[in-house]
Amino acid sequence: MKVIMLGAPGAGKGTQAKKIANKYGVPHVSTGDILRANVKGGTELGSKAKGFMDQGLLVPDDLVVDMLIDRLGQDDASKGYVLDGFPRTIPQAEALDAALVKIGEKVDYAINVEVPDEDIVRRMSGRRACPNCGGTYHVVHIPTKVEGVCDACGGELVLRDDDKPETVKKRLGVYHEQTKPLIDYYTKQGLLVTVDGTKDTDKVFEDIEGFLR
Ligand code: AMP
Repeated sequence: MKVIMLGAPGAGKGTQAKKIANKYGVPHVSTGDILRANVKGGTELGSKAKGFMDQGLLVPDDLVVDMLIDRLGQDDASKGYVLDGFPRTIPQAEALDAALVKIGEKVDYAINVEVPDEDIVRRMSGRRACPNCGGTYHVVHIPTKVEGVCDACGGELVLRDDDKPETVKKRLGVYHEQTKPLIDYYTKQGLLVTVDGTKDTDKVFEDIEGFLR
């Protein structure tokens, strides 16, 4: 099963992507996580990507597409995957389609997690991330057992630079301009399903499961 998650930054697509990956036994592939790991590891890709990420801008398509296609070639992705944060532009979607056509496959579902902009800004200021293991939480919606400490690895949680309000507003602008056209792209392919992302996390997942069944 190959699923794409669409939605504004902070719509909760990462949380839903992990739940889908768990339930259906496919890897959760987050381009944001892979890029952050590269930044942390000081790779050449990481140093090229960092400036864009810190400013809330998209990393250039060629860098992200090569990185993603490479990841999808790994063994654990042979039965499918949930893509979280990719594609984010039409050229990225076209590159993915072209790579899949070559191996006689296609995307099965594009799930659009819909949340109004004003909710996004409010939500993201409450987001906390673990720089150690990539775990994500929310001070209200997904609290940790001990405040400020990652449940999974005990790391100290941070508010990521790209989750700060001024960066969030910029990222929303980028989303509307560059990523939202993908809703049309996947609608035309008959693959788009839209869920109301303002509902409770478990309810959103139930709605998604209803479509995937
Ligand atoms: P995310 O964790 O998905 O919100 O991604 C964090 C940041 O990584 C984004 O603001 C972009 O700078 C970069 N990024 C992640 N995925 C992509 C992508 N598919 N295309 C371009 N930039 C990306």
